[in-house]
Amino acid sequence: MSECLFCKIARKEIPSAIVYEDDTLIAFKDIFPQAPVHLLIIPKVHCEGLGDLTPEAEAAAARIPRLAARLAVEHGVQASGWRLISNCGADGGQTVFHLHFHLLGGKSLGGKLCQ
Ligand code: 5GP
Ligand code: ZN
Repeated sequence: MSECLFCKIARKEIPSAIVYEDDTLIAFKDIFPQAPVHLLIIPKVHCEGLGDLTPEAEAAAARIPRLAARLAVEHGVQASGWRLISNCGADGGQTVFHLHFHLLGGKSLGGKLCQ
């Protein structure tokens, strides 16, 4: 069994505030939210990140933009606006090496780069 943190969350061995789940994707609240709405959307299958896509992870990840748009509506940020980002590697700011997308909204997120 993988020791990966997000694999454990996907297997529900570590609790999280799950907001969506299907056969291949799961979305949950970030434990250290950077905005009023801060969700993480991940494929259940492990892959390190966008630079390391397996065919299975790619197929799951291809569905993430549509899911993000649905969650943006459900969490009340569609009208005000939101951001979907995936940090990749050390300079990209990635700290958990299981592919994930941050859905952020509920406040002005400013320019393209976090300070
Ligand atoms: P990254 O820095 O890799 O782009 O994003 C990792 C995210 O995972 C961070 O925003 C961090 O707050 C979040 N995170 C780290 N550990 C946990 C955890 O145990 N539970 C949840 N829900 N989020 C976590
Ligand atoms: Zn994993």
